[in-house]
Amino acid sequence: MSIRVIGAGLAGCEAAWQIARTGIEVELYEMKPSRYSPAHHNPDFAELICSNSLKAERVESAAGLLKEEMRRLHSLLMQCADGCRVPAGGALAVDRDRFSQAVTQKISAHPLIHIHREEITEIPQDGITVIATGPLTADALAAEIAALCGGSLSFFDAAAPIVSAESLNRDRIFAASRYDKGGDDAYLNCPMDKEEYERFYAALVSAERAPVHDFDVADPKVYEGCMPVEVMAQRGADTLRFGPLKPVGLRDPHTGHRPWAVVQLRREDSQGTLYNLVGFQTNLKFGEQKRVFGMIPGLENAEYFRYGVMHRNTFLNSPRVLSTDYSLRERPSLFFAGQITGVEGYMESASSGIMAGINAVRRLNGQDTLILPDTTMIGALSRYVAYGSEADFQPMGANFGVIPPLEPHIRDKRERYAAFSARSLQELEKIMAENQLE
Ligand SMILES: Cc1cc2nc3c(=O)[nH]c(=O)nc-3n(C[C@H](O)[C@H](O)[C@H](O)COP(=O)(O)OP(=O)(O)OC[C@H]3O[C@@H](n4cnc5c(N)ncnc54)[C@H](O)[C@@H]3O)c2cc1C
Repeated sequence: MSIRVIGAGLAGCEAAWQIARTGIEVELYEMKPSRYSPAHHNPDFAELICSNSLKAERVESAAGLLKEEMRRLHSLLMQCADGCRVPAGGALAVDRDRFSQAVTQKISAHPLIHIHREEITEIPQDGITVIATGPLTADALAAEIAALCGGSLSFFDAAAPIVSAESLNRDRIFAASRYDKGGDDAYLNCPMDKEEYERFYAALVSAERAPVHDFDVADPKVYEGCMPVEVMAQRGADTLRFGPLKPVGLRDPHTGHRPWAVVQLRREDSQGTLYNLVGFQTNLKFGEQKRVFGMIPGLENAEYFRYGVMHRNTFLNSPRVLSTDYSLRERPSLFFAGQITGVEGYMESASSGIMAGINAVRRLNGQDTLILPDTTMIGALSRYVAYGSEADFQPMGANFGVIPPLEPHIRDKRERYAAFSARSLQELEKIMAENQLE
């Protein structure tokens, strides 16, 4: 008896791990390295294709609570992430290569997980299967899924460039975290005065964009959270100064003042040899990235380890087809997990993999599937996926808006969020004990 998992990304690795933990064999299929999506480059599993940040750490934040729930559910990815973190202020960021290596090693060493490096082009008809092939699912399988699920939606994401640390001009750049939170080795800051900002802004909005391949809709929607910096800039001259280039909580030691705007660089690896441009997801042509981003003080001679890119991102209209346990209503032996279900984000994807894995085993064993209460972040996201608006379904990341309100209401936001987290973890512990998940 075994369960198939297709895709060894963030969700697929978690699903495989959860299944194997229960003593069930897993046949895990991954198309890399024989085939790569346009955004994947590393043959290892659980590749982080854009930012290396897994978002906020504080358990009283939505992203922090999600991660804590995952830890308690024996998440493989959280175990690996905790082991290869890099300084990132209040966020949990990881050395992406070490992270993927650690996940790959754990999965490869598990005696019950059998790895097949091959592309799956058809949806298996027999047995229990978890499809976790992500937002860039290879074409043949994507077409099968669309046919089975009555069409799927697409929108577009962009990734930010990464530059080498040694190419940065340290005479202009200063190291500091906003409001001095989290030490000064997490972020480098490129300060701009008003004139520098205006010059940069003018170049950015008029820069040449790359044609986007792979479009399967005439007018592509761009996901707000990953919006290209040049698109955001077009909303107004000051939009960036109130967004990714906000100078708040930062003082330039060279001038003693708060800059007009600041571009932050976040460490990519533990050695500090690579940095990504925070919030600079982009679809500019590579030459234009070099020219326009070279106008940012400190990046005049930056060497690009990777340029920013823009890609297709496909997901199901899940409220139409999926149950809360991530199985297909019409075919309960088939589960979906990850971004393809309409959760949004690395850890959100991974968390749905945990639930799909647990529930695939329960289905195999003839048990009822396990639905976490919507007072937990993981449970609330699975409800959103199954019961969101069919007419306008959009991917959803962890946030406290999807969690039912507290009774009585707590006015103070910090206290309210702390209460959400405490309630969630308490209920999760209870459910885990009742279902022998400890
Ligand atoms: C360009 C881009 C940038 C993003 N940036 C961020 C970000 O910065 N932060 C964030 O939180 N989220 C980001 N996301 C959203 C999302 O969190 C990630 O896409 C995440 O990797 C999704 O996890 P997953 O497990 O669903 O898919 P993936 O991690 O993509 O895993 C899918 C795996 O399946 C394999 N595969 C695909 N098709 C087949 C097949 N037919 N047969 C066998 N194997 C197959 C792939 O090679 C891959 O290894 C981004 C998404 C995109 C597209």
